[in-house]
Amino acid sequence: MQKLLEEVYEQSLFACNMGKIATYIPALALADQNDLGIAIVDKEGQVFKTGLFDKRFSIQSISKVLALAYVMDDQGESVIFSRVGKEPTGDPFNSLVRLETSASHKPFNPLINAGAIVVSGLMRGNKPEEKIALFAKFVEKLVGRGSVTRNNEVYHSEKDTAARNRSIAWFLKEMDILPGEVEETLDVYFSQCAFSLDALDLAKVAIILAMDGFDPIRKEQILKPRIAHVCKSLMVTCGMYDGSGEFAVDVGIPAKSGVGGGIMAAVRDRMGIGVYGPALDEKGNSKAGLEVMSRLSERLDLRVL
Ligand code: GLN
Repeated sequence: MQKLLEEVYEQSLFACNMGKIATYIPALALADQNDLGIAIVDKEGQVFKTGLFDKRFSIQSISKVLALAYVMDDQGESVIFSRVGKEPTGDPFNSLVRLETSASHKPFNPLINAGAIVVSGLMRGNKPEEKIALFAKFVEKLVGRGSVTRNNEVYHSEKDTAARNRSIAWFLKEMDILPGEVEETLDVYFSQCAFSLDALDLAKVAIILAMDGFDPIRKEQILKPRIAHVCKSLMVTCGMYDGSGEFAVDVGIPAKSGVGGGIMAAVRDRMGIGVYGPALDEKGNSKAGLEVMSRLSERLDLRVL
């Protein structure tokens, strides 16, 4: 497996040059286009890793899955799904269009910005700092290490430039869908997006999802099976933004990406995969990450769809 992983790494490096680093959050532009890291945790808890598997980056939209799991765990499903749907949009992750044109005005799913901002608004705690500290504890439980922190440079950079996310949040407020105070909720959202993890952390979370909530490293049930099931289902239909359909056909694995360059993928009963490669395609998915995922899927016959 280690040898195969190293081969896939070598064969995927070329794709780093074919993508573009996100610049709409100015601090993300500081990433190195050529970076690539991959980690796998298998169902026995064995770890395989190569390249920059331990380089930290902001998880961005991958936090939407973690936040969904957290609020489901803390408060149950209905509090979320009474305000947010479960349907893919086929639109970019930050699109406003369907919020206004759909009859209910509800965000279509929790993995687009609008839905994720609602989930952030549902987090328990008085002030954003308290909400984010409680959420960080949950993420620490998933990755099995302490000190999960926010990259402050990325956080401030997004906060200072987030006109579109502010538009989404204020529209949801007007429709009475967004709980809490708008700027405070956005603060939680920008903070969770700026959480700093590495590819190995993502693989560790992914194996928990893959094993229906069981962590084979610690030999412990971490999440309820139902939570893993909801997360993975939404990852299949909505996890790769408006590239989810193509990813399902080409790779066939539940996965979630972020504009920081991460991809987290969960292969049921087999393995969790984390990839970091900050050069993105036009939809916001890691270009080298897609290459890695498609090669791993092919060579290890990982397709679950
Ligand atoms: N923080 C980013 C945003 O809201 C997350 C987007 C992403 O990773 N697709 O734009």
